[in-house]
Amino acid sequence: MILIPVTRCRPSHARVRRRAGFTMTTAADAQELFRRAQAVCFDVDSTVIREEGIDELAKFCGVGDAVTEMTRSAMGGSVSFHTALSERLSIIKCSREQVNKLLTDHPPQLTPGIRELVERLHQRSVKVFLISGGFRCIVEHVASQLHIPLHHVYANRLKFYFNGEYAGFDESQPTARSGGKGTVIRMLKEQYGFENVVMVGDGATDLEACPPASAFIGFGGNVVRQQVKEKCSWYVTSFGELLKELEKI
Ligand SMILES: [Mg+2]
Repeated sequence: MILIPVTRCRPSHARVRRRAGFTMTTAADAQELFRRAQAVCFDVDSTVIREEGIDELAKFCGVGDAVTEMTRSAMGGSVSFHTALSERLSIIKCSREQVNKLLTDHPPQLTPGIRELVERLHQRSVKVFLISGGFRCIVEHVASQLHIPLHHVYANRLKFYFNGEYAGFDESQPTARSGGKGTVIRMLKEQYGFENVVMVGDGATDLEACPPASAFIGFGGNVVRQQVKEKCSWYVTSFGELLKELEKI
């Protein structure tokens, strides 16, 4: 008689639930999926960095208050993402020079622990992506600090006229629309053959990317969005909690 170790026979919690017809994930399922993830996608504003990039840009351009209020509505999920983005940009109308000066004078502030977490994921050969409704010129700056390749950055592109004045944004980017983060994850799964992709973020647009993401981790280290906290199966308030989870295997 051949004896097979019990641990090998035991299906994962997630698999048991799938067999039983349940789709609900628990914190334990999300933790297991995170430990085994082939790719981890991070939202940027209020997740990887402490602030909302678009609010910082608005403040820098002297229209902070009006834009912050609109960002709050967009993050709560009450306005379509495309509408909110388009309206905010039509108020900000930043020039190329203003964006560059913002990056020099007020570079984005990394959230504590993100550097260590990304480094640890890279050591484990997990692919790390940044998927942001913010702007590529700012997100690329963040990616460079975290040694994330620039082709792993998905974000919106600002357009400028030849003299550097604001000329709109690239509406063809998936991240310019509601559901855009999910579209990027679906694309990554096809392109790289990933089966297990985990999304980490603070906002409604991050939560709605799961599925196609295998699991979603709500992040409340910079700002707590009640709706996201209530709907997600695993909510953390520091990246230390994610690092600790990785130590388990
Ligand atoms: Mg965010």
